[in-house]
Amino acid sequence: MQAEKNVTTIAISKGRVFEESLSLLAALDITVEQRDLDGRKLLLTTSQPGIRLLVIRSRDVPTYVQYGVAELGIVGKDVLMEFDGDGIYEPVDLGIAKCRLMVAGSEAAVGSSRRLRVATKYIRSTQRHFAAKGQQVELIKLYGSMELAPVLGLADCIVDLVATGNTLKANGLVPIEHITDISCRLIVNKAAMKIKSATLKTFIEQFKRAAEK
Ligand code: AMP
Repeated sequence: MQAEKNVTTIAISKGRVFEESLSLLAALDITVEQRDLDGRKLLLTTSQPGIRLLVIRSRDVPTYVQYGVAELGIVGKDVLMEFDGDGIYEPVDLGIAKCRLMVAGSEAAVGSSRRLRVATKYIRSTQRHFAAKGQQVELIKLYGSMELAPVLGLADCIVDLVATGNTLKANGLVPIEHITDISCRLIVNKAAMKIKSATLKTFIEQFKRAAEK
């Protein structure tokens, strides 16, 4: 897929972020046909012929934007903190899909003084968090269902996103430390910002206004 001259592509994380993006997009008069939303299409046309949406896994959003295949992206700050590429700006906090990145574990892990085993898919953020505290930990990389790791004894605690806290509670875990607040960001390809400056600046302003509402 190539970036097309007169088309702006917005890459969006599938799932919760995409669902919550729809009302922001609607504020910009960008809507998607219900039959397209019901289907499994990943590249969606919109009510505006010059705008298409690319609905992909969250971790791929910064990559598509970095390489300019999508000029814009909507993705969680948690994903951006793990991304080690460059070539993107992050001009707007969209204030959607809000949650917290937290350390959580069993009650027993709270007061433990031994070297903790921490299971997470957020390796960079976790490393940074514990390094800043001068605490040595052993990291175990997982790709999902982190809450199971302390329950089954694979790890003492986890670093994961927490929204309502219901998932922690359901697995007998408690919040231990708040690392940072998370929300979705608008990201922009740096080179496109020069080439399509007027178009992209307009988008940025519109997204800013929609996020403030
Ligand atoms: P909750 O039970 O509401 O605390 O939600 C926790 C579960 O939802 C965990 O599995 C998280 O990884 C996931 N989660 C929470 N908030 C978000 C978000 N904003 N984006 C993606 N996943 C999330």
